Amino acid sequence: MTKTFNINNIVRKSVAALKPYSSARDEYVSDGSTMIFLDANENPFDNGVNRYPDPYQRSLKALLAKQKGASEENMLLGNGSDEVLDLIYRAFCEPNQDNVITLPPTYGMYKVLAGINAVENREVLLTTDFEPDVPAILDKVDKQTKLIFICSPNNPTGNSFKRESMEKLLESFHGLVVIDEAYIDFSKQESFLSSLKKYPNLVVTQTLSKAYGLAGIRLGICYASEEIISILNKIKPPYNVNQLTQQKALQRILNEDAVQQEVVQILEERYNLEQALQNLDFVEKIYPSDANFVLTKVDNADKRYHQLLEKQVVVRNRSTQPLCENTLRFTVGTPAENKALIAILKQL
Ligand SMILES: *Cc1c(COP(=O)(O)O)cnc(C)c1O
Repeated sequence: MTKTFNINNIVRKSVAALKPYSSARDEYVSDGSTMIFLDANENPFDNGVNRYPDPYQRSLKALLAKQKGASEENMLLGNGSDEVLDLIYRAFCEPNQDNVITLPPTYGMYKVLAGINAVENREVLLTTDFEPDVPAILDKVDKQTKLIFICSPNNPTGNSFKRESMEKLLESFHGLVVIDEAYIDFSKQESFLSSLKKYPNLVVTQTLSKAYGLAGIRLGICYASEEIISILNKIKPPYNVNQLTQQKALQRILNEDAVQQEVVQILEERYNLEQALQNLDFVEKIYPSDANFVLTKVDNADKRYHQLLEKQVVVRNRSTQPLCENTLRFTVGTPAENKALIAILKQL
């Protein structure tokens, strides 16, 4: 299959025709000089957050651009990557007509968002070694297929996919390939960010919820071509990333060294956890992880899950996922939490 990628062939007609809402902060962009702002019906008394936030999060994007080596025109920020993923559906998938491809076992939101947006979700299982089955995926593609979701490192399996498989899909598919890199900061693999120029149909999503330790502020990042980003900008809610989130994210990204130190510790603790799991007789398999969690196959996942709950430890039972019978997913905690977990596991 050969393809020619043309964004006009995949954007929804209603979105292409849309004239977006123009907010007060679109029409006058502050340059930092002292102005009297009487344009947005805000309360004028300063309390730190009485003004609307920058709808395009310019300071935050400038900093991200510097740190990630992507340019600001190639970024869209959202209220978590969940909002970013939803915007991608809404921009490109016609309800009750188009379809997407997802690769279970994987992140559950792709399927939920397909349901919310009335878009058919075509599932192509990973192979038994948790790799994308490229021929089977391409076989499922038809003219109405708009998106393929790839999560690498993959949740819940923990592995990164072979780069050649992802490149093959980028080269062969006429729609967008969305690579979800929520766990990329823990990974030994290189991000696809540096391939944005090479693949006009590539969308990379990242988040501050995992390695950056900011799940509570909700900040997701979408990187793609300028064309794709300008379409997403048309449909995003004007003030989708609030002021407190923008401030907190700026502080944290400025403190990148602290983030990296925590990542190093988490990876050390993951190693300790993997070692400990190996010596337990109810653990049948430990899947190799390139993320901050470890998927394990146990003798009886329901039983072990409840035993851990009784000891005040909450893990994720992933047994209902295809190819994941009797699996538990352990997120790597602090050194103290990990020590406690290992001691408890030894008692079971
Ligand atoms: C945790 C996670 C996210 C994060 O979503 P946010 O909305 O940014 O918190 C995205 N994708 C995957 C695969 C995840 O596991």
